[in-house]
Amino acid sequence: ATALKTEPAPPALQLEEIRHRYGRVLAVDGVSVSVAPGEVLCLLGPSGCGKTTVLRIAAGLEPLQEGTIRLSGVTIAGGGVEVPPERRGVGLVFQDYALFPHLDVLDNVAFGLTGWPAADRRARADEVLALVGMNDYAHAFPHELSGGQQQRVALARALAPRPRVVLLDEPYSGLDARLRDRVRDEVLHILKASGSACLMVTHDSEEAMFMADRIAVMRDGRIVQEGTPVELYCEPVDAFVASFFGEVNRIEGVVHGGAVETPIGIIPARGLQEDTPVTVVVRPEAVSLQPWGPAYADDPGGVVEQARLLGRTSLVHMTVTAPGQTDWSVHLHARVPGVYLPRPGARVRIQIDPAQTFVFAD
Ligand code: ATP
Repeated sequence: ATALKTEPAPPALQLEEIRHRYGRVLAVDGVSVSVAPGEVLCLLGPSGCGKTTVLRIAAGLEPLQEGTIRLSGVTIAGGGVEVPPERRGVGLVFQDYALFPHLDVLDNVAFGLTGWPAADRRARADEVLALVGMNDYAHAFPHELSGGQQQRVALARALAPRPRVVLLDEPYSGLDARLRDRVRDEVLHILKASGSACLMVTHDSEEAMFMADRIAVMRDGRIVQEGTPVELYCEPVDAFVASFFGEVNRIEGVVHGGAVETPIGIIPARGLQEDTPVTVVVRPEAVSLQPWGPAYADDPGGVVEQARLLGRTSLVHMTVTAPGQTDWSVHLHARVPGVYLPRPGARVRIQIDPAQTFVFAD
């Protein structure tokens, strides 16, 4: 008898070598991603990097020019196949994918549930509307809703049928900060409860880190790094990826004897050749501060320019001068917990967390 081999389940959604041109603009340049059942993958990148185009191609809203798209292992676009959007069984929330204007909120949400028994339809529509906080508006029409309310209904409509794959383009962009926190919590809950795979587009790293099991960072039509939020934050491949998780300090230098000498201290530069010009990236949260004292005479010291309270953290701008070299200094930003607001001109001792400091060849 032949042993039965169990094949691993195919990805819920798989994009392979997607390439897309608008006229002469190469908007997407060979993007491959796959999303497992129940997984959330975020495409993160700056405006114009091609992330929306990738999502529109996956949805079928933009015809596929080059590459292959598979749903659960079945080709739905590529090699002469092109399944139309409405037959892909994919839940969509796009900026320009509006609600049906002639249907009220409840009917908009129930629309995707054709084929369900009438009682289940109503119950499921009520349930998802409650989750996005819109059940009081069941009988309102789209034109009577704010942009953010319409967006929440669009989310409910996309998620109601528990589709195998959900595509979300900046789904919380119209919501204020407090509402956004709540809605994205609920959306994540709905996705995980239904086991849907989700490909989501955002330019907001915090949003990506909240939602994503994995993040793919895009730049100029390509994926530059893919990994878990922790991998991307702790092991960015370059200064671009590192700076995507909040503003960073950049200090230029050159590798000598396996390290880079800077006004803030000597930073190890593992694996880089002698004389390589480099950028040292220091996250503001990697800098800790203490009031200056005579015991620190040999340490790098900062002179405060200004300090601002941001809420849970304080942001301190400083000039840091190398010990014993008054003419060699850099500007440095520190983000420290709580209320810490030294006066301009005050001297502080700085310490840098090496785990949050990166050296990249230029
Ligand atoms: P944003 O966050 O601003 O939406 P994005 O990363 O989603 O940006 P895309 O919308 O995918 O980027 O656009 C990628 C590139 O393709 C950009 O250079 C854009 O100007 C161009 N582009 C997008 N749509 C079209 C179009 N319909 N016609 C021509 N060029 C387009």
